[in-house]
Order: sequence, then C-alpha cells, then structure tokens
Amino acid sequence: MKLIIMGAPGSGKGTQAAIICKTHNLPHISTGDILRKNIADGTALGKQAKSFMDAGKLVPDELVVALLKDRIEQPDCAEGFLLDGFPRTKAQADALAQIVKIDVALNLETDLDKLADRMASRRVCLKCGYTTSAQDAPDGICKACGDKLVIRDDDKREVVENRLKVYAENTAPLVEYYRAAGVLANVDGMQSIEDVNKAIEAALK
Ligand code: ADP
Ligand code: ZN
Repeated sequence: MKLIIMGAPGSGKGTQAAIICKTHNLPHISTGDILRKNIADGTALGKQAKSFMDAGKLVPDELVVALLKDRIEQPDCAEGFLLDGFPRTKAQADALAQIVKIDVALNLETDLDKLADRMASRRVCLKCGYTTSAQDAPDGICKACGDKLVIRDDDKREVVENRLKVYAENTAPLVEYYRAAGVLANVDGMQSIEDVNKAIEAALK
C-alpha cells in the first residue's frame, strides 16, 4: 500500500499516520519529523530548513523533494509506505508522481477555526516524533521513548496563523489534484482519535 495522508496543520494527521503504520506495518515518512530531526542534529539540511520552519513557511521544494526521494528509495519502502506532510505543493505532487504511483490519498477534513487551539496544546518528542497534548502528558515525558516533550517552535500563535494560510494557498488545492487522479478518500477529522481511525480503516478497504 502506497498511501498519503493530507490535512491542515493540527488536523491530527501525524497521530493517525502513526496508528495506520502500526496496524499495516508500513514505514511512516513524515517530512516534518525528518526536518526537525535534522535541525536537532545540526545537519546542513537542518540549518537550511530551520528559518523557513520557524516562520511557518514551506521549506523549498528542491530540498524536500530530494529528501523524500532518498527516503522512498530505501529498501523498506519497496512494498509500501505512508507519506505524512508530503506533498504540500503542486510541484511536490508532480515530482512524487514521477517516482511512484499512489494508491490512496487520505484527506482529514477539519474546522480550520479549531486548529489553532489544538496546536497551542501540542507537545512533541524531537527524538522519536511522538506527538501528544499537554493535557494527555502532564509529566512532559515521551510515552514512546522516555525523552522530554517540547513545544514546537512553529506552534506559537503568530506562526500558526501563517501555517494555516500557507496550507490554504499551497496544500488545500491538492485535494482536487488527488480527486482528479481517482485516489482521494475524505475522512471527517473532527471526531475522536479512535473514530477517525475507524473511518480511515473503512476507507482503506
Ligand atoms: P504540520 O502539518 O502540523 O504543519 P509538519 O511536521 O508536517 O507539521 O510540518 C512542519 C513544518 O515543516 C512545515 O510548516 C514546513 O515548514 C516544513 N515541512 C514539512 N514538510 C514539508 C514539505 N513537504 N514541503 C515543505 N515544507 C515542509
Ligand atoms: Zn520519544
């Protein structure tokens, strides 16, 4: 299965992606996680990406496409994978179409005006990518690996607004792109984590 999961920032796509990958034993490829790991490790790619990410802007297509292509060509992706946070622009979608054929593009539909609150309480682990909320992890410790949870630099209110704008302008049009390709599956993303997952599994059947 070669899958994409799309949705606005804060739509819960990272959370759902992790569940899908566990259920179906697929590599979870989150370009955001890969970029944050590069920043934490101080790599050249991380240095190039940081200022864009902190401002809530997109990292340039060339950088992200190269990163994605490298990852997707690893042997563990031969049978399938799930892309989370890629593609985010028409140019990225076109580049992806040159590399592989996608089977299903899941799209989490959300109320844009509720997303800013979700992002304000988001906590992430920079080591393993685990994502949760301040309410669900009051001790500030990652349940998956024991490292400390942090607030993402781009989850500050001012930056969130920019990310939602970038999403509406660049990424939302990809819903039509994948509808036209005949692989779109819309899912209501405003339900509980469990119910969103059920709806996704129903769509994948
Ligand atoms: P969210 O979907 O909540 O915004 P992500 O972790 O997917 O979180 O992305 C965080 C940031 O990483 C984006 O705002 C952007 O700067 C950068 N980024 C991630 N994926 C891409 C991509 N495919 N193209 C360009 N920039 C990206
Ligand atoms: Zn962790």
